[in-house]
Amino acid sequence: MCGQDSPVVAISRSPRLLETLLANLDGVVYRCRDDGQWTMEFVSEGCLALTGYLPEDLLLNQRLSFLELIHPEDRQMVRAHVADCLRSKRRIDIEYRIVRADGAPRWVWGRGVGIYNATGKVEALEGFMQDVTERKEAAQALQEAERRYRSIFENAIEGVFQTTPDGTYIAVNPALARIYGYRSPEDLIVGLRDISHQLYVEPDRRVEFMRLMEERGSVSNFESRVYRRDGDIIWISENARAVYDDAGHLSCYEGTVEAITERKLYEAEMRHQATHDALTGLPNRNMLHDHLQRAIEIARQRGGLTAVAFVDLDQFKFINDSLGHQVGDELLKTVAQRLQSCLRDTDMVARQGGDEFVLVLQNQTGGEAGIAEVMQRILAAVSRPWPAGDREFHITSSIGVSRYPADGKDVETLLKNADSAMYKAKEQGRNNFQFFAPWMDTQVSNRLEMLISLRRALDQEEFKLFYQPKLSLKDGSIIGAEALIRWESPEQGMVPPDRFIPFAEEAGLIVPIGEWVLRTACRQNKAWQEDGLPPIPVAVNLSPRQMNQALPDFVAGVLEQSGLAASWLELEITENVVMKDAEKTVATLHTLKRLGLQISVDDFGTGYSSLSYLRRFPVDALKIDKSFVRDIARDADSAAIVKAVISLAHILNLRVIAEGVEDEEQHAFLRENGCDEVQGYYFGKPMAVADFTARLKEEARRRASGELTAD
Ligand code: C2E
Ligand code: CA
Repeated sequence: MCGQDSPVVAISRSPRLLETLLANLDGVVYRCRDDGQWTMEFVSEGCLALTGYLPEDLLLNQRLSFLELIHPEDRQMVRAHVADCLRSKRRIDIEYRIVRADGAPRWVWGRGVGIYNATGKVEALEGFMQDVTERKEAAQALQEAERRYRSIFENAIEGVFQTTPDGTYIAVNPALARIYGYRSPEDLIVGLRDISHQLYVEPDRRVEFMRLMEERGSVSNFESRVYRRDGDIIWISENARAVYDDAGHLSCYEGTVEAITERKLYEAEMRHQATHDALTGLPNRNMLHDHLQRAIEIARQRGGLTAVAFVDLDQFKFINDSLGHQVGDELLKTVAQRLQSCLRDTDMVARQGGDEFVLVLQNQTGGEAGIAEVMQRILAAVSRPWPAGDREFHITSSIGVSRYPADGKDVETLLKNADSAMYKAKEQGRNNFQFFAPWMDTQVSNRLEMLISLRRALDQEEFKLFYQPKLSLKDGSIIGAEALIRWESPEQGMVPPDRFIPFAEEAGLIVPIGEWVLRTACRQNKAWQEDGLPPIPVAVNLSPRQMNQALPDFVAGVLEQSGLAASWLELEITENVVMKDAEKTVATLHTLKRLGLQISVDDFGTGYSSLSYLRRFPVDALKIDKSFVRDIARDADSAAIVKAVISLAHILNLRVIAEGVEDEEQHAFLRENGCDEVQGYYFGKPMAVADFTARLKEEARRRASGELTAD
């Protein structure tokens, strides 16, 4: 620039030429001396707009110098920069603050050059100053935003990440490192290189993640199980999106990771509680319904036999009432385990409620025979003795089975029919299973209806007594009869007692029904005696509910009214009655005994009394339950029990009657082992009065002709 006019000098010399240009320029063109004050020699029009001062104010320091215009805090810095540039002959290029006439600070960007004379000495500075406050503030705001973002990133509780499209971490925050078990974000970036295999427990989740990303560009609440660095498995939930550059190319994925293991555990626990029984841990009714629904669906699509088995414990209520709920609970747990142990993994045992369990057996390739085998296994498993404290108990079960598709095509029908079949199994003497048959559900299943009809049955004398002979094993003579109730219902025909006695007991109707039985049996026996038939005792079954202090008076009254001598009446009480409320029962039994009648213990062996316990009770006879008699020939245990009962009963001076004798083999066994009396289809089914009368007449004839001799 030496020898020639500098641009500013040129402009100042030909003002008109460039006046307009300078006036419209957004900024100030100046020339100043390199003295301590940077005394202005030329200042363009823009000065007013930028600084609030007129150009004249600055010219030759008339009001203030250029240095004074500069913000006091920046003066030192500007001075140093300018000096440095002049020394090295570089262009001046600097941002700093000035203080406007109104006191407001502004950011300016100053660019300029030193003007040197021929000797190389600085003659002046010429330059251009521009207001950059807005850009500067924007940059600062950006910086602040960035700082804030950093802070969020660094301090977030959620993990934050950025990866390349092929899964290399670009950035992660400390929280993510913590969640994945790394010491620091850097550690993670270096250590975690193969996301699919190192991170995801199911590598397919990574595939699914990529698929969603490609399809939708984002994933939300994407839950997976991942390995932490130490190998522990945790649950995470990811929210992520694909980031594209301006050209539309995928540049990275970024997102957040939340550790949700605790929530998952909680959810799983909630789900478990909603679908499982708290006591046994088995699936509950809800889950059973869903499972059975699915099983039906599968069986429909693929064919195959599915069985639903309703398992009900026999006399559970008694255990619960007499031994306490704790023992009852233990028993239910034991049974639950035993049921499970009988089944395959694909089968389900659910607790339906109370002492009822339901099994769902899918794809029964063995057909009905196969199902029957499983049921036998279950009956055996349930009836295995179980210890409780220092005692040992046993309980049996009754099972009803329905089959898809033969017995029902939906959940409700299959369950209902399995339930009906279960009732049938109870009627058959418990400890057995029955397949559903279509006639079973024609019987009354509705409780309310049942109770209404039972009340009516009492009023309208729909009940009948049948009599079954008891025979002496010594000479085969009839030495007694058991009165067994029958209900001839106008709607349902002949209803067996097991079908309605439990209902009557529950509803309290058993008391009037029992009174009717006692009155009728005594009157009938008296009638036979008056007919001159050989006198025999008649046995009447007593329900536990009838066993109260009023009973002896009532029995005495009935005997008196009928005119029957007490010695011709026998009362059959079940073994459980003896155990329950022992003190009161003992007293009542003694009062009854004083009337002069006989007392026998029914269904002996199915309950929980021990023989020594019986010593305290004034009883005359034991009736061995028909389930043992039935199994005498097949099952060594049953045979041993029968033998033991007979000999121990004799030690206690009790008569022994075996019930349910159906064939010669059983008959022979009982005779050989010293049983006193027998009762069963082999000798005579329960029969109506007319038939029994004929049987008694025949008996009288045989006695008279001397046909009856001991064999
Ligand atoms: P239980 O006292 O054990 O009566 C014997 C049951 O075994 C009777 O059934 C009888 O018909 C049946 N039975 C007799 N011999 C044989 C045989 O050889 N094989 C087989 N499989 N069964 C045989 P029932 O009449 O159906 O009575 C069932 C139960 O109903 C009775 O069992 C008794 O507990 C109850 N019950 C019957 N009548 C009365 C009553 O008047 N009052 C009360 N409270 N309960 C009664
Ligand atoms: Ca009986």
